[in-house]
Amino acid sequence: MSYIDKVMADVAARNAGQPEFMQAVGEVLTTIKAVAESDDVYKNNAILERLTEPDRQIMFRVPWTDDNGNMRVNRGYRIQFNNAIGPYKGGLRLHPSVNLSIIKFLGFEQIFKNSLTGLPIGGGKGGSDFDPKGKSDREIRDFCQSFMTELYRHIGADTDVPAGDIGVGAREIGYMFGQYKRLKNVYEGVLTGKGLTYGGSLARKEATGYGLVYIVQNMLEKVGDGIKGKTVAVSGAGNVAIYAAQKATELGGKVVTMSDSTGWIYDPKGVDLDVVKDIKEVKRGRISEYADRVKSAEYHSSETSKVWSVKCDIALPCATQNELDVDDAKTLIKNKVKAVGEGANMPSTTEAINAFQAAKTLFMPAKAANAGGVAVSALEMSQNSQRLSWSFDEVDAKLKGIMKGIFDKTSDAAAQFSAPDDYVSGANIAGFLKVAQAMIAQGV
Ligand code: NDP
Repeated sequence: MSYIDKVMADVAARNAGQPEFMQAVGEVLTTIKAVAESDDVYKNNAILERLTEPDRQIMFRVPWTDDNGNMRVNRGYRIQFNNAIGPYKGGLRLHPSVNLSIIKFLGFEQIFKNSLTGLPIGGGKGGSDFDPKGKSDREIRDFCQSFMTELYRHIGADTDVPAGDIGVGAREIGYMFGQYKRLKNVYEGVLTGKGLTYGGSLARKEATGYGLVYIVQNMLEKVGDGIKGKTVAVSGAGNVAIYAAQKATELGGKVVTMSDSTGWIYDPKGVDLDVVKDIKEVKRGRISEYADRVKSAEYHSSETSKVWSVKCDIALPCATQNELDVDDAKTLIKNKVKAVGEGANMPSTTEAINAFQAAKTLFMPAKAANAGGVAVSALEMSQNSQRLSWSFDEVDAKLKGIMKGIFDKTSDAAAQFSAPDDYVSGANIAGFLKVAQAMIAQGV
């Protein structure tokens, strides 16, 4: 049995009932084979065994009170996966689907993504099965304070620096930061994605979506193409989706779809982002309201179809894991999609990725494509430690440079170890090499 097959079998035996985690591990280990089995140093140092076992897994009870005075209980998680190259760094997700498997897959992916940014950040992830939808501001605050009342003992500006993810934006980060400060009596950059009046970075809100479009642009430029004039399908209508759509529009693309968990809109004239922002960022409403307000748009339920049924040149899945399956990939390929960039984490199933690669569709995986968010989070950490704040243009220019650096590393590793356009292997290998070297040097 090969080294990788043995590790895969051991990980499967030790992590029964964790399909998303196994999917993420399987995707990484199979694509780094050319490197991980080429030199016994990895096997002799048990690097893959160590990489697939988190440093620490924290699970805790989160009691909170609803507006009717009832006590409610959710489960909180923080997985500190690997700190070989820097403090743990990764978002907090609040969504009813959250479980150990999902947080572990996200934390595992984060190790390689953070390594690819070139910045000194390790991998972690956390969250809760709390559902923020339909909750009052007071309920959200009560939950966030209770969540932080346990989490604060495990994190710190040089230990573990969480950020936002699904269901966690500036409001939730604000409540958590306030509670951390109250409990520790320390004013430090323990969370990123903070408000601009208390240590947040300009361009953090835009960073994941902008970064995604920058790297898709890099990928298209390599084949002499670009975003200008292209029809773009975006899924999701949250932080990543909105700012990906904004940058794609600014660069001359036409974004024709957006979605949420109940349905999606198609606007052949190009999505009006002011309307989407008002619905999602201000009113916290449903995407169906877009079709009530904009005459050129159609609304479809997610029970009958998905945004991927629309003909497009560029597909940007920006909602959640496994939202684009092999049938969606076949439809996109049939409709001659040129490029796919993953804004969400693991949005494409393994079979969908295989279909894109077989069809020679340009495909940029999440680890590289959505790393702009964590990269600007690391820039927020730097600004906090220096007690400085940089201008929007300064941060945006650094983000652009970081995304180009990620593209070059991914592309070079792909060419050296796999095929020039196999960005899935390229991103995994480039991310792996740096972390593995640090782990060997440190002996833990
Ligand atoms: P938001 O909560 O802002 O938005 C999430 C969007 O996806 C919403 O439109 C939501 O719809 C939809 N969605 C969530 N869960 C599901 C589901 N199970 N089925 C269908 N639609 C769903 O989150 P973000 O934009 O921050 O995150 C989106 C993705 O990007 C996630 O995979 C996240 O891990 C990833 N990511 C985020 C980063 C960031 O900086 N925020 C950084 C890197 C990756 P609804 O409102 O109906 O739930």
